[in-house]
Amino acid sequence: MKNYLLHLECSRCGEIYPHEIPQNVCHACGKPLFARYALEQLVDRWKPEHLQSRPTSLWRYRELLPVCDEDNIVSLGETMTPLIHAKRLGEQLGLPKLWIKDESRLPTGSFKARGLAMAVSKAKELGISKLAIPSAGNAATALSVYAACAGIPAYIFMPKDTPAFNRETCRLASANVTLIDGLITDAGKIVAERKTDEGWFDVSTLKEPYRVEGKKTMGFELAEQFGWKLPDVIIYPTGGGTGIVGMWKGFAELEALGWIGPKRPRFISVQATGCAPIVKAWDEGKSDAEPWQDAQTIASGLRVPQAIGDFLILDAIRKSGGAAIAITDNAITEAMHLLPTTEGILTCPEGAATVAALKPLIANGIIKPSDRVVLFNTGGYQA
Ligand SMILES: *Cc1c(COP(=O)(O)O)cnc(C)c1O
Repeated sequence: MKNYLLHLECSRCGEIYPHEIPQNVCHACGKPLFARYALEQLVDRWKPEHLQSRPTSLWRYRELLPVCDEDNIVSLGETMTPLIHAKRLGEQLGLPKLWIKDESRLPTGSFKARGLAMAVSKAKELGISKLAIPSAGNAATALSVYAACAGIPAYIFMPKDTPAFNRETCRLASANVTLIDGLITDAGKIVAERKTDEGWFDVSTLKEPYRVEGKKTMGFELAEQFGWKLPDVIIYPTGGGTGIVGMWKGFAELEALGWIGPKRPRFISVQATGCAPIVKAWDEGKSDAEPWQDAQTIASGLRVPQAIGDFLILDAIRKSGGAAIAITDNAITEAMHLLPTTEGILTCPEGAATVAALKPLIANGIIKPSDRVVLFNTGGYQA
């Protein structure tokens, strides 16, 4: 198949970089790089009908994915995830048009598989020999298995109190694990300091340009599953924010192809009250977020005190007419009961946070009873 990847472009200053060599962030301003595609060439050549005969995995959107040679794809079966009409939960809340996009069905049990499938495939294509990652948990698990299957050693740095599931799965997949006394941001500093000497390629989210390409496929699937008519509201549990940034980017690409119109779902970012830098910045009307002090929450994926893509997350929320809201750990714990008892879905705390957000969002009028609302259950329950 022809490949439509053109180059990488800085998401802030627009500086262009070649994609044929490994890249991290913009040399000029330190911000994330975005993959750009020859969309105007694709307009006449690629139509939604072409998807019908393709496998039901994220690779069905390969024209808008960065892997140039299909032989480099490292796949563990990244299935399209179900979009479940949550009738019972919706009835309880007075929200008849409520859906759950259940990302727990992906390899390693979370949506992190989308990003790491893409990053590891691209690393293989570029001949990268060692991968290093700071992680709050699920990204480490996903990198460990994808890197193992690609035959590329993985170096994992994560907080020592990361959930046991993540620590154990990384070891089972023979990754090199270092537990640190600190948070994901501290782990990120260690990777940044040592990567040159060690010959590691840094796959931190949004400091590596292709994880976001994997995550944007959540938006492609959602659009396709709704017949190319996007819902009114997307509620997303936000850590590094790559899911929001990715879907926002993906929707712009679909619009450029004429597959969807200019209307966007309102993006609602959900964080935990113990770590809510995006919510704070949103409430204060700022375009960048300050680092959060003493981050604490049972939702480890939301324990991200500082996101390099903060300005992109806030921009997507603002331009979509969305909002940001913080939820207590108690409300998250309650929602972890509510989802299995109404919809039979066993959820991670991060997914439960989106369920917990519904009541306050309805109460303060941010969501209307007639809205078509999609929650992202970003991962499954882990003991
Ligand atoms: C990483 C993670 C998140 C946060 O995702 P971002 O796209 O980085 O904001 C949410 N839920 C789970 C289960 C995660 O692992």
